[in-house]
Amino acid sequence: MGIKELLKREITQQDLLNYFNASIEYLHLPINIDGCVFNYRGINVIFIEKDLSNYKKRKTILHELAHIELSQLEQRDKDLLALHTKEYEDEADEYIKKILNEIN
Ligand SMILES: [Zn+2]
Repeated sequence: MGIKELLKREITQQDLLNYFNASIEYLHLPINIDGCVFNYRGINVIFIEKDLSNYKKRKTILHELAHIELSQLEQRDKDLLALHTKEYEDEADEYIKKILNEIN
């Protein structure tokens, strides 16, 4: 089970969140931040800016799920700030693009 199955609509977003032991909180984030994810005691917490359009929310959620699926959280000692290095941002975005290409 993963992002690919979600994009193919074989599972729901909630299914995948359960599988990743993750939850989403919608709140106001600092300006220019659409979302972020961190791991707290084994739970993946995704923060999403609540004023985004539905389209952008979905896109941002996919991006954050990619961070989880790629296990970037573990690679960087669960350091929230380290996640937003350009290398990892690009990797997460490329990963979603690759899956979309595969299923379309
Ligand atoms: Zn990111």
